[in-house]
Amino acid sequence: MILHNRVNRNELRERLMKEPFHRVTLSFYRYFTIENPEEYRDQLYVMWVKWSCFGRIYVAREGINAQMSIPEHHFDAFKEGLQSFSGLQDMPLKIAVEDDGKSFFKLDVKVRSKIVADGLNDDAFDTSNVGNHLTAEAFNAALDLPETVVVDMRNAYESEVGHFEKAICPPVDTFREELPWVASELADKKDKKILLYCTGGIRCEKASAYLKHLGFQDVNQLHGGIIDYARQIKEKGLPNRFKGKNFVFDERLGERISDEVISQCHQCGEKSDRQLNCANALCHTLFIQCEKCAAQYESCCSSDCQHELHLNEDEKHELLKLRGMKPFRRTRHFKPLNS
Ligand SMILES: [Zn+2]
Ligand SMILES: [Zn+2]
Repeated sequence: MILHNRVNRNELRERLMKEPFHRVTLSFYRYFTIENPEEYRDQLYVMWVKWSCFGRIYVAREGINAQMSIPEHHFDAFKEGLQSFSGLQDMPLKIAVEDDGKSFFKLDVKVRSKIVADGLNDDAFDTSNVGNHLTAEAFNAALDLPETVVVDMRNAYESEVGHFEKAICPPVDTFREELPWVASELADKKDKKILLYCTGGIRCEKASAYLKHLGFQDVNQLHGGIIDYARQIKEKGLPNRFKGKNFVFDERLGERISDEVISQCHQCGEKSDRQLNCANALCHTLFIQCEKCAAQYESCCSSDCQHELHLNEDEKHELLKLRGMKPFRRTRHFKPLNS
C-alpha cells in the first residue's frame, strides 16, 4: 500500500487547478489520547485519500490537528467518516470564509510527538485545566472592559498583517518562544482579566492551562479562534474588532477579515499585507511585498536573492555546498528596511 504521494509539487498543483469541482477548506483539532498514532495515521490516510481529501494533518499521542480541503461532492461522506471514526465524533469543524478551495494540493498525515510544538512538559501541569471559552460576542464585550489584557498567541509574522484592537503581539517566531515571553511580560498582571486568541483556538488550549498553572486568575480564550470569530460576526452581524488579515498556513497565506491594511511592504515601506515566500528557492523567507516591489525584485526579498534567482542549477548547487546547507524553508519574520 502506498501511503504517500509520488508526484512532484508542480504537477500536483497543476492537477488541483484543473479540478472541475469545488473544495471546502476547513480545520479541526482535538486533544485526546491516541494509543497508537502510527496505526491511527494509516487508517485516516486510507479513509481520506479515497475521497481525494488534501491537507496537513498532525497525529500525536495527545490528539489530532488538521487543516484540510475536501471536494464538495465528498463533504457529506467526509463528515460521516469523522462520525464513525474513533475519537473524532461530533468534531466541530471550522470552515474558512474566504476560500477558493486551492489551499492544499496533496494529503499529508504525519505522526508527531505533539500536535502543537509548545516546548512544554505536559506532566508538569494540568493541561485539562483550560481557560473560559468565549464566543465572539463575549470576546467583544470583554475587549471593552478597561482593565482587560489581550494577547495574540500567534507569531509575529502572523500578527503583523492582522490582529485584534489593543492586542499585545509578541515579537517571536515560534509558539515555543511565545509562552515564556508572555509569562514574563504579564508577570505583574496575574489578577487581571486575560484574553487569549489564536488562529483556530488550538494554541490557546495549552497556553491558557499553562498561564493558570502559573497563577493567572482570570484566563479566557476565543473559542474557535479568529477563523470562527470571522464566521460568527458575519452570521450574527456583530461588530468586527479584528483588523486586517488572518494568516493561515496554506497556499492562501491569509484570509481577509477587515479591509484595513495594517502592515507595510518590507522593501519600500508602503502599506501592504501581501505576504509571500521569496521566489529564490535558496531563501524562501516569508515576507511582505507590495505589487510594485514584486515587479521590481521579481518577488524576491532582496537584490541578492534576485541575483541568485537567475543562477543556473550548477551554480545554485555550488552555492548551497559553499554555505553547507540544503534548500530549506525559512519563515523568519524581519522588519521593514526603513524602520
Ligand atoms: Zn514595496
Ligand atoms: Zn530571499
